[in-house]
Amino acid sequence: MGNTVAIVGRPNVGKSTLFNRLVGERQAIMDNTSGVTRDRQYGKSFWQEIYFDLIDTGGYVVGSEDIFEEAIRKQVNLAMEEADVILFMVDVNVGIHGLDEEFANLLRDVQKPIIIVANKSDTFKKGNDYVEFYGLGLDAKIFPVSSQSGSGTGDLLEEVVTHFETQGIEDQYKGLPRIAIVGRPNVGKSSLLNALLGVERSIVTDLAGTTRDSIDSLYNLYDKKFILTDTAGIRKKAKINEDIEFYSILRSTRAIEKSDVCIVMFDASKGIESQDMHILGLVAQQKKGLIVLVNKWDLVEKETLTSKKFEDTLRERMAPIDYFPIIFTSVTTKQRIFKSIEIAIEVFANKTKKISTSKLNEILLKDIQKFPPPSHEG
Ligand code: GDP
Ligand code: GDP
Repeated sequence: MGNTVAIVGRPNVGKSTLFNRLVGERQAIMDNTSGVTRDRQYGKSFWQEIYFDLIDTGGYVVGSEDIFEEAIRKQVNLAMEEADVILFMVDVNVGIHGLDEEFANLLRDVQKPIIIVANKSDTFKKGNDYVEFYGLGLDAKIFPVSSQSGSGTGDLLEEVVTHFETQGIEDQYKGLPRIAIVGRPNVGKSSLLNALLGVERSIVTDLAGTTRDSIDSLYNLYDKKFILTDTAGIRKKAKINEDIEFYSILRSTRAIEKSDVCIVMFDASKGIESQDMHILGLVAQQKKGLIVLVNKWDLVEKETLTSKKFEDTLRERMAPIDYFPIIFTSVTTKQRIFKSIEIAIEVFANKTKKISTSKLNEILLKDIQKFPPPSHEG
């Protein structure tokens, strides 16, 4: 978990081609296993049974098409903050480009493994052209690849996976519910976490190795153990306030993917906004347990907006997804915040419940007898 690779580089070197090759090709297989996002810029891939997340930073940074200093800086920052391994892509047909040098200058200060991908090494003849990129002066290995044909990508990935931290931290917590708190900026995610942290001895330990995209903490609240993923806190730590939206989408996507149950928070005073629906959609699409917290309920004039009205509107917009609990909370007045956690744990229990075949038959048989399935060809 948390093996993340980011591709950086100027436009047109082939970042999205490599991304699509690594993510797209494997998508068919991945679809059958775990939840995958079909996001163009963020996806999952694997090499020799080692799974990793891949980010095409060019696809994420708005304005990176008409490149400017700011976009380069953002791409490098994104890679620095989110990735374990950075692929710096260049084009052997062009050689060292002025913008490549700008990337190299910023990457020089990054304390993470960097690998230079000399793309478009399509033919044997071009196979050695990559050596010129040693001229960028980075402490990095260079791999000639052709993203178009795929040649060289195996050797590249072989190197990439050597930089992942060893797995196994997590197994000890296997079976515990992983709860993620997601939602738009400012809905109250950090406040909720702080309120939960305030409960004496509720937090047992910070799990190691999870500090990059989120902080996972093992909680033991009212004798119930669970792991809470804090995506909100990081943002503040990382001082990336100017890009809040952009990071929050990426981080929400990742937090959702890792979790068993998602607590999606809304701001009652703002009503339902399209980004809220987008997040709800992601959770549902990945078949995660879902509960909705309509927070800041203290700010709402109860005469004009009742919980029933809010609930009806939300359920209508989410149809046909109708199975999730909706809880009206106020973190400020501590209204129903522990109940939210209790319900999240209940959702997890229901989600992982095993129903015996005999029990299933017993329930289904009645309906099947009432409505027998049509017989095929007699
Ligand atoms: P990005 O802007 O860095 O994401 O670059 P793209 O992936 O959009 O690729 C830019 C162009 O380079 C496209 O026309 C690709 O078809 C082409 N391209 C990408 N990889 C290769 C490659 O390995 N060989 C060749 N010859 N062209 C490539
Ligand atoms: P985040 O961006 O989702 O982590 O949101 P924050 O936890 O930083 O909260 C954003 C703002 O909303 C802060 O000023 C909080 O004090 C405020 N806030 C959070 N929860 C509530 C609530 O239940 N009621 C009210 N009135 N304000 C809240």
